[in-house]
Amino acid sequence: MTPKEIELFFHHLAAANPNPQIELDFINAFTLLVAVVLSARATDKGVNKATKKLFEIADTPQKMVDLGEDGLSQLINTIGLYRSKARYIIELSKRLVQDFGGEIPTNREDLESLPGVGRKSANVILNTIFHEPVIAVDTHILRVANRTGLAHGKTPLEIETQLMARVPAHWRLQAHHWLVLHGRYICQARKPLCPRCPVREECHYPYKTTVI
Ligand code: SF4
Repeated sequence: MTPKEIELFFHHLAAANPNPQIELDFINAFTLLVAVVLSARATDKGVNKATKKLFEIADTPQKMVDLGEDGLSQLINTIGLYRSKARYIIELSKRLVQDFGGEIPTNREDLESLPGVGRKSANVILNTIFHEPVIAVDTHILRVANRTGLAHGKTPLEIETQLMARVPAHWRLQAHHWLVLHGRYICQARKPLCPRCPVREECHYPYKTTVI
């Protein structure tokens, strides 16, 4: 995609959704981190259903430690891989209490040192909580980038590196949200909804659909 096409691409996404929001429910930085860990290979909807009750009980690292792994597991057992996720969340809560005074670290290195937190999760926190213009590449962004020609690569890091170089600075803070939502609702994996796509003019995908 040319720089001009990329500019128009984000211009159209912004026009269609001027204020894109993350779809995971959270009430503070800690609960967002927990929701992000829970969302691995799970839908935001399924996570939100489970965290409604959980966050009423445990919205700080200390309360999560007090709830314990068994108590947490019972509250999140509708989510895939809940046992290992519960273990990670209790371990990361302990680390936050012991090493960070119960606060969420503000830098990537410390975030990624937490159990269960990888580069993508750290990027979600850095972007949503600390307003850093980083792009958390998930399966939707990987697909949208490759289809449209926005970036090309097999791994999230390859795509992230290219997007960070190509997406103009004035779009970068919101780019993550626009791309995720676009992949989730328009440029869907099985059948992209090209006839109602706001960026079909800029998109380079050779197999655009013509009917919905
Ligand atoms: S035109 Fe189709 S393939 Fe291209 S971004 Fe839009 S939905 Fe995806």
